[in-house]
Amino acid sequence: MGTDYSRGLRLAGAAAEADVITLREALSSTHVHLSADPEIPGVLKSLPVLVGDLRRLPYQLSLDPLGGTTPVPDEVLGDLQALVDGIDSDRPLHITPAPAGCLHIHLGTQPPPGAALSGVPDGHGVRIRHAGHPFPRLTSPGSGLGAVLTAASLTAEVFKLTIGLRASTYATTPVVDFCPVTLGAEPGAVVTTVPEITSIALVGAGAIGTGIILILDLLGTSGQLTVVEPEFFEPPNVTTYSIGTRDDAAARIHKTALARRHLPRMDVNAFPYTAQDFISAIDNGAERWPETVLGAVHSIEARHEIQRIYADLTLDGSTGGEAGTTLALHEALPQGPCLRCYYPLPLASAGPSAVQRLHELTGLPLQRIARGDAPLTPADLEDLSADQKTALSPYLGLRVCGLSNVMGLTDNAAEDFQPSAAFVAQQAACLVVGAMIARSADLTTGPMRHVEYDARFGPWHDMTTLRRPRSGCDCQAEGGVIDAVRAHRGRAR
Ligand SMILES: [Zn+2]
Repeated sequence: MGTDYSRGLRLAGAAAEADVITLREALSSTHVHLSADPEIPGVLKSLPVLVGDLRRLPYQLSLDPLGGTTPVPDEVLGDLQALVDGIDSDRPLHITPAPAGCLHIHLGTQPPPGAALSGVPDGHGVRIRHAGHPFPRLTSPGSGLGAVLTAASLTAEVFKLTIGLRASTYATTPVVDFCPVTLGAEPGAVVTTVPEITSIALVGAGAIGTGIILILDLLGTSGQLTVVEPEFFEPPNVTTYSIGTRDDAAARIHKTALARRHLPRMDVNAFPYTAQDFISAIDNGAERWPETVLGAVHSIEARHEIQRIYADLTLDGSTGGEAGTTLALHEALPQGPCLRCYYPLPLASAGPSAVQRLHELTGLPLQRIARGDAPLTPADLEDLSADQKTALSPYLGLRVCGLSNVMGLTDNAAEDFQPSAAFVAQQAACLVVGAMIARSADLTTGPMRHVEYDARFGPWHDMTTLRRPRSGCDCQAEGGVIDAVRAHRGRAR
């Protein structure tokens, strides 16, 4: 059986309003060519991530090791070939000068003639330039975070240029400068290193969680990390996660084992059960209560669950939106704004039908819910309250009959519904790790931030909002109980 590209193609199909078979043929006949300047710090960390991200889509892929200012070393080429082979042995990385008609992408500041665009890490951030726009002098050596963001951003540019998006649904900006730590346009200004991790739990080792693991590894992070994840690595994950091979999927390796293997410098405390089990283990003293939770889950129910860990700080990454290309960071506190403030939908209980529940929770009229095959559109949200709009906007483009499922009103996991691509999840992961650095180094001490942008447009000036607790949320109504639970868990810390 060949490598399963369905989720990435579904994402592309939703973005381009094209059917998956047409898109698969179009991408398979598109030739993406790479070159790199290996002597620039961070470039050799970014190159494998870029090659991996592009190989997780069905492009033809080639690399010219002599295409940059100095040759790409042979041992790096060997590692890249092994990486590509692990994802899809039927689609090799061709080692060749730029073929005619290719889309040529350069990793570095000195693109050869013919390169359509270039990117380079600068500190924790990224600089992207389309042809004809020179780079400024770089401010700092590129970090592992900058390396992953550069690879994910370049892949997003390739995606935009090759899948035939309608003009109004994307933007190509010839000059992009972005730092996920400061959330500003000055990459390289901040190079604070990640402190040794002692009390952090990553909940979810899926598309975003493996992106976080990849970044922590490339940052050279040390310390102890608890990874909470109940599932095994499966074939469709090969093209949507940041780590893991077809052999890993065939062997059904546990996702926590994958995390441990990929973080050799860290002491990974694998917790191969659910977040609810983790909470129980904290309360009976079997697991340590984390100060910080990195949330990388994909349903509202799971977000409510990780909020009940009541860690000092929760940094939640998400992807979604009409095409699966929207990505976000939600910073949350036990006293509010909590993840329930961001996702104010209570879970289903016995009683009213799923349709009735969906109506009550979302405000969508029953007649609209009855047209379940019609995708949710912005017009459907027009008459709803601000909270309802916020709750529903991640699901634009999804058929209404699927809403009950992804909103946690039924028991089925949401992940199978969602289009997904590694380069989008990695950008969400970059926001999460960027916030972790900013908060742990006190670079940001103010109110909780909600950051959101669409990978088809890239980061923009107005993507950050400061959040207050939502009145009536559990974190406000039950503040005393939450304080008591935290005091109890804190005694064992
Ligand atoms: Zn709340």
